[in-house]
Amino acid sequence: MAKNGICVNIGNCDNANQKKVLEIGTGQDFVCPQCGKSLIIYSPPKGKSAAMMAVIGLVALLIVLVIGWRMFAGDKEPASLPAPPPTAAPATPPAVPATPPAASTPTVPASSGQRLPPCGANDDERRRLKLCD
Ligand SMILES: [Zn+2]
Repeated sequence: MAKNGICVNIGNCDNANQKKVLEIGTGQDFVCPQCGKSLIIYSPPKGKSAAMMAVIGLVALLIVLVIGWRMFAGDKEPASLPAPPPTAAPATPPAVPATPPAASTPTVPASSGQRLPPCGANDDERRRLKLCD
């Protein structure tokens, strides 16, 4: 089985200068046929790893961009944020917690209405309001 090699004698050998992949047959010396220097083994799956490197490079670039953007935004935020919070923050939080409990409180007794206490003889009004069964 032939092996692929690359000459690293750059500057002194055309094969090295052109990064030419040399196929060296079995039994032949694993050296550059042009300059006679030892070759380094060339592994064919390099094409896939080149694509991987591109993806990794892109991801790294994205991470750098995000970090850079966040640092940039972090520097700018204190300048633009102080104005809205004093007015908006105190007004909004009370409104938000107040609404869900008010809405959910009537819902819970209504859904558990099947477990109401039995109505008495004078409980017609309560039965009508579904406060008893
Ligand atoms: Zn060479």
